[in-house]
Amino acid sequence: MSGQAVVDVAGLTVRYGAATALDGVDLRVGPGEMVALIGANGAGKSTLVKALAGLVSAAGGTVHVQGRLAQVPEGREMFAELSVDDNLRLGGWRNGRHGRDTSAIYELLPELNGLGRRPAGTLSGGQQQMVAIGRALMARPDVLAIDELSLGLAPMVVDTLAAHLRALHRERGLAVLLIEQNAALAFELCARAYVLEAGRMVLEGPTADLARDPRVVSAYLGGP
Ligand code: ATP
Repeated sequence: MSGQAVVDVAGLTVRYGAATALDGVDLRVGPGEMVALIGANGAGKSTLVKALAGLVSAAGGTVHVQGRLAQVPEGREMFAELSVDDNLRLGGWRNGRHGRDTSAIYELLPELNGLGRRPAGTLSGGQQQMVAIGRALMARPDVLAIDELSLGLAPMVVDTLAAHLRALHRERGLAVLLIEQNAALAFELCARAYVLEAGRMVLEGPTADLARDPRVVSAYLGGP
């Protein structure tokens, strides 16, 4: 990683009552970098994203985010009764009335064209994930934290979402922290990754190296 980090987490500990969800975790995302965070259920991935967004407080360590962070939360969290357009606009409210026009989002994510007036709850899972990404982009983020991009989606839909993320990263220099249970997808999209196990960062490095690490292959890539 080069340059000043857009996300810099150092020695982060988060507790829920007596339970320690994160135990002295370090993680950095450089400007315009795409970084993956992988780990099994309950490893603490969502807690880390919540800490980045200031939704849980640290019992120890520091969290620094340079610029604007937008989240694509696990489960997408659409307002099902509201139209796609209104869901998108909610992502821009922090920018006030001068916030981004939704038309830019339809250009970036053309699969949403023609769906603007549909209640978000009537869309497919893949379309809803696209709205969740569009809503996050409305905040004009410097870094996007995506919690479980691929969960419950068909491989073809995941391919489309991945292509959009690659384009946003390449053409607009968007930094991405991709939280994924699907390590193969995470490694395909990102040059660097972290592995979280039971609240501790156990491995970190270039995905090309991690993909050959026997511990990663057996635990996360379905290998021997
Ligand atoms: P998943 O993929 O299932 O979402 P995760 O890696 O995101 O898992 P977290 O949701 O961050 O993991 O949970 C980390 C640990 O903290 C787990 O043991 C979980 O049971 C616990 N935990 C999470 N949220 C709370 C909470 N609000 N109160 C108590 N314990 C919690």
